[in-house]
Amino acid sequence: MTDYGTISLTGRKKDVSQKEMTFSEKMYIPILKGMGITLKHFFKKKVTVQYPEEKREFSPVYRGQHILMRDENGAERCTACGLCAVACPAEAITMTSAERKPGEEHLYREEKYAAVYEINMLRCIFCGLCEEACPKEAIFLTEKTPDSEYNRDIFIFGKDKLVMKPEQQVL
Ligand code: SF4
Ligand code: SF4
Repeated sequence: MTDYGTISLTGRKKDVSQKEMTFSEKMYIPILKGMGITLKHFFKKKVTVQYPEEKREFSPVYRGQHILMRDENGAERCTACGLCAVACPAEAITMTSAERKPGEEHLYREEKYAAVYEINMLRCIFCGLCEEACPKEAIFLTEKTPDSEYNRDIFIFGKDKLVMKPEQQVL
């Protein structure tokens, strides 16, 4: 008859015995050894940073939050052609186009512009394909990291968050 108590499927089975503690175990020497390792690491250079007060330097090719550019006269460059949305693998970009009216030339560079332009930052994978697809140099990814929020709706970034502020430098 098979003795199932002695079978080990992994071969790593160990028999536990109530053996007598050694002298060093009785003197808590192994604990002191462990404390020594803790102390050694205590004085080592820390690998963590105190974010957000302290920030790590990003790679020069880091891609962060998008910006919709204005031209040198302050007019929005985007012509709502939709190429960025087509190129986006995450389907994160949506827009609604509108016709520029007479007198709005200082606002929009092209005859057609994006009345609504939205990027879902929760879908975006910051690949930069929208930037590459744009024929008008209207969208770029900046070094800025989108702020963290508790509400998911806030991550739908509209023109209010994307279009560059007039005081910002033209890229
Ligand atoms: S960076 Fe990539 S994923 Fe994000 S909006 Fe642009 S194309 Fe889409
Ligand atoms: S950002 Fe560029 S690619 Fe996207 S709709 Fe505007 S002009 Fe077209």
